[in-house]
Amino acid sequence: MRKEMLKICWTEIEAMDKEKTVVFIGIAPIEEHGRHLPLGVDIFETEHWMDDAMKQMEADFDDYTMIKMPMVPFGHANMKGIPGNIHLSQDMIYQITHAILNNLVSWGIKHMVVVSGHADPMHCIAIEQACDDVNKKAGIVAFAPMGAIFSDKVSGINKNASGKIENYINQFPNDYHAGWIETSCMMDIRPQLVNESYISQPDIIVSDKEMINPKCIMEKTKGFGHLGYPKHATRELGICLNQDTSEKICFCVSRFIKRKGYEPFVHHELYRIPFLRVKRSARRV
Ligand SMILES: [Zn+2]
Repeated sequence: MRKEMLKICWTEIEAMDKEKTVVFIGIAPIEEHGRHLPLGVDIFETEHWMDDAMKQMEADFDDYTMIKMPMVPFGHANMKGIPGNIHLSQDMIYQITHAILNNLVSWGIKHMVVVSGHADPMHCIAIEQACDDVNKKAGIVAFAPMGAIFSDKVSGINKNASGKIENYINQFPNDYHAGWIETSCMMDIRPQLVNESYISQPDIIVSDKEMINPKCIMEKTKGFGHLGYPKHATRELGICLNQDTSEKICFCVSRFIKRKGYEPFVHHELYRIPFLRVKRSARRV
């Protein structure tokens, strides 16, 4: 059974079997996404993937209640020089996530899943650390699979889609921001919000090395706001990409609820790099 948090009463929460209640929390920023996409791309994606994954899991977990929280519209999203970003520090994303999870723990909730459509590693890692720290005190209750999904730790779920997508990734790599990937996803989720001008946006090609240099990135994307190849987007690709992501979320979260085999998916690939993590002094440990 699926429920929306804003529409239930506290007495329902009190009466729920907490062993069989899963709360989904979406955290993604308001952020500029080029001249052809709205500020809410990451929020629309997060909500769409979450809804889809919840729908897919309903059959397997038919005696569970899945509660969706309203989207938290914040992120660590530092696209300087272009208006449209609500950018919070990594520490603050950690604090917000930690506070939400802690409150839910006090309700007695035993399964909490944090989803984000925002792929910035420092954003994902802050969320993962908030889960880690809550888990240290409350037992394993919180899980955030997107870092693992964005760093390709979950593969081969939707073979059909993966093949098509792989060709595109090889042809148009480093499609970091508002390029063919996000434009395609939005063509599936909210086609009316994709401006036709996507077709005339230039390819903005960046290397991995350039990507870690904010000055260089802002110079390259100046006046546009995207990084990648928006003009190559199609709705068909969007359907594949969205399905693929929802299935991966479903795959990881199902394992988490059963507490079996979810462990490889608790961290982003780059979690191992200390300077990308929230410092100990800012953490609630
Ligand atoms: Zn985005």
